Order: sequence, then C-alpha cells, then structure tokens
Amino acid sequence: MDNWFSKFAGQKQKKINQVDDVSAVDLLPFYLEKNSELLSVDRLHVVRQFRQSVENQLQILQTSLDATSVVLFWSGPATDQITSYASTSLHNDLVAGSFPVGSGVLGALKDRNDIALTPYRLNSSAILYYPENISVGSFIASILSCGEGEQRKVGDYGILCVDRVSQDAWSSVDRMLIASISDQIRQSLVLLRDLLFTEVERRTLQLVFDGLRALNSVLDVESVYTAANEAFGLIIDMDLFAISLIHENDHELCYLSGDCSECQLNQKYILDDSLVGQVVKYRRTLPERSFYVGRAPIINGFDLFDKYKSVLVVPLLQEDCPVTGVLIIAARGDNLVTRNSREMIEMIAAQVAIKIDLAHSHEQIRQLSITDPLTGIANRRAFQRAFTAMYERARRRSGSFSLIICDIDLFKRVNDTYGHPFGDQVIQQVAGQLNDVVRTGDLAARIGGEEFTILLEDTGLSGALDVAERLRKKVEKLGLFFQGEAVPVTISAGVAAFPQNTDQQEKLFNYADQALYHAKEGGRNRSVCWHSIT
Ligand code: GH3
Ligand code: MG
Ligand code: MG
Repeated sequence: MDNWFSKFAGQKQKKINQVDDVSAVDLLPFYLEKNSELLSVDRLHVVRQFRQSVENQLQILQTSLDATSVVLFWSGPATDQITSYASTSLHNDLVAGSFPVGSGVLGALKDRNDIALTPYRLNSSAILYYPENISVGSFIASILSCGEGEQRKVGDYGILCVDRVSQDAWSSVDRMLIASISDQIRQSLVLLRDLLFTEVERRTLQLVFDGLRALNSVLDVESVYTAANEAFGLIIDMDLFAISLIHENDHELCYLSGDCSECQLNQKYILDDSLVGQVVKYRRTLPERSFYVGRAPIINGFDLFDKYKSVLVVPLLQEDCPVTGVLIIAARGDNLVTRNSREMIEMIAAQVAIKIDLAHSHEQIRQLSITDPLTGIANRRAFQRAFTAMYERARRRSGSFSLIICDIDLFKRVNDTYGHPFGDQVIQQVAGQLNDVVRTGDLAARIGGEEFTILLEDTGLSGALDVAERLRKKVEKLGLFFQGEAVPVTISAGVAAFPQNTDQQEKLFNYADQALYHAKEGGRNRSVCWHSIT
C-alpha cells in the first residue's frame, strides 16, 4: 500500500512544479490507483479548491460549536502516519505535519470510531496539534471513512478533531453537527474522487489505445513483445513482465522484462499443475485476486515470485482456439490490479495474442520466401539481399568480404545416369556441406540448379580460398552410392574478394563467376581465385 503513495509523492513533486499552488497535502485524500500525473492542471486546481471548501466547513463547525480548534487529519503518506490536512483555530501556532498513527490522545481510536473527553484533563494524552499543553476544556474526535468495509487503509480515512474551552459534555446536537459536516466532506470527497478516477481511466484508455496502435504497427514477434510490455506498463505498475508460449506439455519463456534472476529466457517449463498450467487448462486469468496464495508454483520447477506480492497470469487466446501463450505480470507491491484494469489487461492480451500469431505467420512466410525448398538453405533472393547488405556494410566500414561461387561438376551426367530424384539428393548433400563450412554471419545459398554461393564477412581472398578448398574436399569425400554403385561427386569453385579484386559489387560477382569458369576449364574439382587468372 505504501507503494502507490511513494509513487504518488514522486509525481506530486512533478505536479507542484506545474501547478505551484497544489501541494502534497492537497493531494492527500485522493487515493488514485495510479498515475495522478495523468490529471490535468484544471483537475488539480479542483483538488486545491476542495481543501479550501473543507476548511470552510471546519470553520462553520468551529463557530457553531464555539470551538478553539477544528482539525482534520488524513491517513498517509506512509502506512503508519496521519497528516494534518485542513484546520481552523483561534491559535496561530498549530503544529502541522505528520504523526504516527495512534499517537497522543488519538491512540484511543485504535478500535473505536470516536472518542469524547469531557472534561479534558491536564494529565490526558497530548492533543497532537498543540505545541504544548494548552488549556482545553473538552475534546472530541471521530473517524471519517471513505473506504468500504471496516478496515482502515492508507488514504481511506481521516480523523476529525474538535476541542473547546467549555468543559460541558458534547450534546447530541453537537455530535449531529459534527456527523453531518463529516458526512458532507465524505460525500463530496467521494464524488470528487470518482471524477478524478474517471479522468484517470479515460486518460489510461487513451494510453491503451496508443499502446494498441503501437502494437499494430509492428510486424516481427520481438517488436510485438516489446510493444506489449510498453502497453501494459501504461496501465499497471508492474515490476515483471514475461511472455511464455505454450507447447504441448510445457511453456517456453520468450520475453522477460524486469527483475527475475531465477527465470531464464528460452527455457522450457513443464505446465503440469503450475499456475501457468491452470491458466492454460481453464482458459482464464488467475489468480482471482491479484495476490497468490496457492501452493502450486507459478512456473514449474522453482520457487519464483517470493519478492512479488502480486501476480497475474493472463491467457493469450483467440476465441475457441487453444491457449497459445500466457502473460505473467508481477509487482512487488500489493494491489497490482483492480477489476477495471483487469478488463483492460485482458482486452490488450487478446490483441497481443492475435499479433503474436500474425507475427509468427509473417515470419513463416518471410522464411519461405528466402529459403530454397529443396535444400533448406538460402535461395537466390536471400543471397541477393545479403550480398548487397554485405557489400554496403563493407564499403561503409572500409571492411572486406569474399564471394565463393561453386558448381557441381558434370552434374548433367549424374542426372542422366541415375535419374533426377537421385540428382536432387546429391544437391541436398552438397548444400549440407556448405552449411557445415560457414560461420555465423556468413551465408550459404543455392542460387540455381546445382550452383551455390558463399558470402564470407570480414574475409580476404586467401581466407576465402581456404573455405572453398575445405568445402571442395568435403564434397569429394562424400562417398555417395546409387544402388550399391559409388557415385563420385565433385565441385569447382571461383573466389573473388572485396576490395582486393574490385570495389564494385557487380564486378565482384562476375570475377568469382569467371574464376569458376577457369576452374572448370582447368579440369574441374578445384578452386580458383580471381587474381590468379589475371
Ligand atoms: P559442369 O561441370 O560444366 O558444370 O557440367 P554440368 O553437367 O554440371 O553442367 P550444366 O550446368 O550444363 O548442367 C547442370 C544440370 O543440372 C542441368 C540440369 O538438368 C540439372 N539441374 C538443374 N536444376 C536441377 C535440380 O533441381 N535437380 C536436379 N536433379 N537437377 C537439376
Ligand atoms: Mg555443373
Ligand atoms: Mg551449372
């Protein structure tokens, strides 16, 4: 509970700069779930005016009861404090500020809603707002509660105190007056809070729509995760946000933001009876409230979330389809979500589910469009793109790279002798060898029937020749058989390097191609560099 208040206090600081006449004390009774910073300057003025109107009401009480002082304390800003919110007094040296809950004469309010001391004796407990023992005849204090239920929560209640010189007992009319002013303050406070809350909700919704718009503008799955994190961050104070995708019996943590040293990205966890497992099974957000007391772990396999007081696991689902994933949201403080924000969370979660699905199929289509279906390595289009990108990058950074073009020797004969299907298998085998020789950052591609290329980043001619030779020898050693008969397969390769041979992209390709031609001319099963030809 102190969580929102400390956050609140931080935001007040910011607001005070904007609206210099709205103070931290002005904001005291306005329990806004989150984001008082969403309030407009106009609304903050209303907050200030409200305090003035409370002071007016206290004055009416002071006059009517012939009182010395009337003071309204409000709970907060810390869980164990009350702070003087508004007052009126014949003395001008009232002590303002915060006091520990239950201190002085107010200690008696611990388990009662009002106290009356008539007469107030010198040895009675101290009246907090007086600097020293001032002569007081009688004292009365009552709780003014805005919350629901019995429990007093921070920000939910105030204490109205009245004292006067007369030692007469507080009459029923006096008490009625105090009760009726308390009631008026309470009612207008509730109304004003509703107004402010509605405004915060409205602004929050606006932010949600902004978040959804951001979600709509991204295509790849990683960006969807990040946009989802940002969209949720706008509506709830979360310290942990994770997305886990469901496989058959387990789920895999795909995105993690926040403090969770135990969790591991890309790690799989068994669903079983974990909270995540139950969410998948029952297709609904759990736990019912934002705090979790169940015995099953949230994620199977380890005790997580000890440091989080609130947690929420939200299913990612589309209509009647099975649950595809879950969102795990957690916060150190309690009260992570209200019913309202829960609905919003589920609304966004539905969008996130759709977007993740779309991003996955988009990725699939993208992969298909750049992959050669026979061999599974990059196709001609992907090679063209990578070639241009590598060329641009090397030029920008004054770096180097090399291109190998290779071609299966006398392949027509393989096809003619053993048939096209066997030819296909040979092509697959050779592609497999290409994949083996490339490092991360390099690219192996099939650019035609039995023609392949390799792009080698940061590699000069001699390094590229080494790779070509390694590949050539690997292919030579493949040892393929057709119906028990050995089928020798070899390749020839041409190599050219940027900027060693040329600084132009098109020429680089032509040089490698011509080098390949020379390798064929020279008897095949060999690698030739462009510079050895000229
Ligand atoms: P060289 O050593 O000069 O390269 O001789 P080659 O026989 O390999 O020369 P050529 O380029 O004329 O022959 C390539 C053959 O590859 C012709 C074509 O039928 C075959 N081919 C092209 N694409 C495929 C394919 O996808 N599968 C199969 N099995 N064969 C293919
Ligand atoms: Mg060939
Ligand atoms: Mg060919």
